[in-house]
Amino acid sequence: MNSSSAAEKGIPVLDEGVLSTLNADGTRRWLRPRLSKGRFLKWRRIVGYCLIVIFVALPHLRINGKPPILLDLPNRQFTFFGATFLPTDTLLLALLFLSFFIGIFLITALFGRIWCGWGCPQTVYMELVYRPIERLFDGRSYRDGGRTPVHPMRRAGKYAVFFVVSLVLAHTFLAYFVSSETLARWMTRSPLEHPTAFIIVAVVTTLMMLDFCLFREQVCTLMCPYGRFQSVLLDRQSLIVSYDEKRGEPRGKRRRGEEAGDCVDCRLCVLTCPTGIDIRGGLQMECINCTQCIDACDSVMDRLNRPRGLIRYSSQEAIEGGRRQLIRPRVVLYPLLLMVVVSLFGLALAGRSPVDVSFLRNRGSVFHVLDSGSVENKVHLKLTNRAPRDRSYNVSVIQEGVAMTCSDLPLRIGPGDSASLVLHVTVPRDRFEGGRAEVKFLVGDDTGYEREFSHQVLGPLFGGDASSTPTSPQEADQ
Ligand code: SF4
Ligand code: SF4
Repeated sequence: MNSSSAAEKGIPVLDEGVLSTLNADGTRRWLRPRLSKGRFLKWRRIVGYCLIVIFVALPHLRINGKPPILLDLPNRQFTFFGATFLPTDTLLLALLFLSFFIGIFLITALFGRIWCGWGCPQTVYMELVYRPIERLFDGRSYRDGGRTPVHPMRRAGKYAVFFVVSLVLAHTFLAYFVSSETLARWMTRSPLEHPTAFIIVAVVTTLMMLDFCLFREQVCTLMCPYGRFQSVLLDRQSLIVSYDEKRGEPRGKRRRGEEAGDCVDCRLCVLTCPTGIDIRGGLQMECINCTQCIDACDSVMDRLNRPRGLIRYSSQEAIEGGRRQLIRPRVVLYPLLLMVVVSLFGLALAGRSPVDVSFLRNRGSVFHVLDSGSVENKVHLKLTNRAPRDRSYNVSVIQEGVAMTCSDLPLRIGPGDSASLVLHVTVPRDRFEGGRAEVKFLVGDDTGYEREFSHQVLGPLFGGDASSTPTSPQEADQ
């Protein structure tokens, strides 16, 4: 519906400008940004396609037999370039995320929204994958703003290719959670054998189709919180894509005797903008710093034999005639904070035990009183090898009179892997107090690492009355 027909139907139409993606009557304005070739597009393509290759390749690479990034949620393990993090590593994970956020603050303070234009998957996939496919299938219709109808077969072909791309990306996304081998196995079997994974792929594919077919630039302008934060993350010295108003205005054609700026008001910078804004209006929240307007304007300036850079990377301060200051409080503070957090992370990582040990009581019968009078407990021990290489583990008890047997020792465990053992621990009856006795275990590996761990086993209460002894772990804990 255009503005005049909307007005005829009594729908209020605004005289003032509205959001770049809305028509004056409030309906969606579909953007078909023109492609502007230039030096920035060339570099963005190199960076963007490299990022896509990295995203697709990472699950297939191996470091010490494990993918570089594996978010193994069922086993509650997070592998990051050879290091394995467990739920007990809360501090390490908190420091890792904190350093990531401080890093983003620092990069934004220095280079503005460089992430949005060059690294964000939303921009990379929309502008370098889905948009070129759309340009190819829509052809003339894309170029004339949708006035030429698209043949239904071409339209169907476009959405079929979108679907295949989304499906591949959704499977790649899942490979970060289950490893590529598991994914390959699942893909050759019935979805009924792995319904959860199937549902995840279906949901991610649907969300991608909705995003790249329907929401598009609205994800950046309305949904993404990072865009909203830019007013606090940026300052007048941050690098942004800006229009040189002093040089460009008054805009329009130069007539003899009249003074005019370098902007010829060709509107190419607006037509090429994927969020539909006019950068000549100053810094705007919708600008994702994609640099397409720079390439568009540079090509115009080249044709007019005028210097490039009417739209360029600059800071608000510099573009208004001031001097760009690189050193300023936030640019000093963020690296200092980052150094502190990264150092704490390094210290915590270096001081971390190379093996994670957890004890569990046996389910069902807790202990067993032997004919000798000693009490036998079955103790379940879970070992997780955090080291980057295979390790062989041994476990022993270090108290006189306490005995332990286990047929699975020594136990070899791969890097980042876990294994469970059942230990049969026999403790003399007189060591129990209130139905409990403390047992000290020594866990060691083939590199000479040794550490002592304590675990409480259960036994009869005073007097050895079987009826007054705990019969389950829950009862024992009361
Ligand atoms: S592309 Fe350059 S010359 Fe054309 S309207 Fe934009 S700023 Fe002005
Ligand atoms: S104003 Fe320029 S840099 Fe900003 S989103 Fe539009 S085309 Fe990209």
